[in-house]
Amino acid sequence: MGKPTGFMDYKRELPLAEAPAERVRHWREFHAHAAEPMLQNQGARCMDCGIPFCHTGALLEGMASGCPIHNLIPEWNDLVYKGLWREALDRLHKTNNFPEFTGRPEFTGRVCPAPCEGSCVLGINEPPVTIKSIECAIIDKGFEQGWIVPEPPSHRTGKRVAVVGSGPAGLAAAAQLNRAGHWVTVFERADRIGGLLMYGIPNMKLDKHTVQRRIDILAAEGVIFHPNTEVGKNYPADKLRQDFDAVILCGGATKPNDFFTKTEGRNLQGIHFAMEFLHANTKSLLDSSHQDGRFISAKDKDVIVIGGGDTGTDCVGTALRHGCKSLVQLEIVPIPPLERAADNPWPQWPKVYRLDYGQEEGKALWGEDPRAGCKRFTPFRSNGSRATAELPRAISPARKKSCPLSLSYSRSVSPARKINSLTSSASTKTRARTPRPSTASSPRASPAYSPPATCAAAKAWSSGPSTKAAAPPANAIGF
Ligand SMILES: Cc1cc2nc3c(=O)[nH]c(=O)nc-3n(C[C@H](O)[C@H](O)[C@H](O)COP(=O)(O)OP(=O)(O)OC[C@H]3O[C@@H](n4cnc5c(N)ncnc54)[C@H](O)[C@@H]3O)c2cc1C
Ligand code: SF4
Repeated sequence: MGKPTGFMDYKRELPLAEAPAERVRHWREFHAHAAEPMLQNQGARCMDCGIPFCHTGALLEGMASGCPIHNLIPEWNDLVYKGLWREALDRLHKTNNFPEFTGRPEFTGRVCPAPCEGSCVLGINEPPVTIKSIECAIIDKGFEQGWIVPEPPSHRTGKRVAVVGSGPAGLAAAAQLNRAGHWVTVFERADRIGGLLMYGIPNMKLDKHTVQRRIDILAAEGVIFHPNTEVGKNYPADKLRQDFDAVILCGGATKPNDFFTKTEGRNLQGIHFAMEFLHANTKSLLDSSHQDGRFISAKDKDVIVIGGGDTGTDCVGTALRHGCKSLVQLEIVPIPPLERAADNPWPQWPKVYRLDYGQEEGKALWGEDPRAGCKRFTPFRSNGSRATAELPRAISPARKKSCPLSLSYSRSVSPARKINSLTSSASTKTRARTPRPSTASSPRASPAYSPPATCAAAKAWSSGPSTKAAAPPANAIGF
């Protein structure tokens, strides 16, 4: 514990993010880092608890409490307070293969939801330590300083392992096994490596350069990647078993849950699964900055997002960036309270009302959280060939009064026009730190995006690994 009185001397402070009405104009990540003295003060707030609940990952009442991968949080908080960033990075890497993903903070939305902060002891009577933004600052500094370089294993076991699927599970398995000295080959059905890191989480929440950077490091460490290869289709499963000593299945959960399958009108045009919408959007963005038009555009449409979770929020953020005309997000879970309820005590995950990034953006554009409570849904109706939905009477006047999630259907001002009218006031009010984007004039225009080289990783081995270890046996890829 660097400073015994730190938790009394300093208040919780987070870096300011780009103003919501500004950031819907582009697809870039929008988080910012605090200045170093502020980060050190935040590190000083950590009390180095005898029992640090922050790193004690456990399930309480079915909810994650504390860090599930047991990050050594009090140790790196202390090291950051002392300015020992390199040492902090080493501590962070002891438990976490990819802190640049888990640490990605945004002002309101996070790639990792930070159960560590929900269980921080300081959170009992004060706002918790800003663990996420410290984690993000450590790893980003590591990359800036050039401290993170490929570290191929010093010896090879000669064993070959196939990993099917290149999402976070597949990448983490590949990283661990490769470091242990095995030859690892990752097979991926999609044209880019990364699973939902690449094609699920949108670019503004997790920049795809960040994903590709890690894939390139793994490739330079000797991991072999094969995109466009679906095991069981264009690579027989039996062959996989012959070619490799072990096979790890990390295929994720591609099949959507079509819970409207029996709803009248389900087959009408204009009803899409989230992943059709999000995958195509990111692919088109990376391939052509949306110039190829190969995505489902929400531009000038009235959009209903069914589901109020993270995936729904990503659809909200995406539809807003397309320039949708109006947007409603339907949520089945009752609106949580503003503060912990009596049956949701510390250190449980706090079930409190939050504005995630997409809702914050919707609110900035239209003055209201776009979510609406909804338990039942009426059939989809047809308007010509397209689906329309009669919105349920979820927001009765009485409910509207008692509920912070209100909804207005008559939005005559399109987001683009509204953005223009809000821009100046929003930016002055929120003191946006990130420079105002200069490329896009409206959310409909995609600023130039330089896509990462498609699977540079796959080519890396053929151009020669940066390791002196022996090359993998020729039959490691038997096709
Ligand atoms: C839109 C969206 C946003 C999300 N946002 C977050 C977030 O912000 N924070 C968070 O913590 N979690 C988030 N999640 C959840 C998180 O992305 C998943 O829990 C995580 O990606 C699961 O990792 P995985 O490696 O098991 O699977 P996936 O990431 O799904 O990867 C599996 C990969 O296997 C490939 N594959 C499947 N079958 C084969 C085959 N036969 N041959 C070759 N390849 C195959 C697939 O193409 C896919 O690329 C989000 C999920 C979605 C859908
Ligand atoms: S619980 Fe909070 S105060 Fe205690 S060690 Fe963890 S981060 Fe520090």
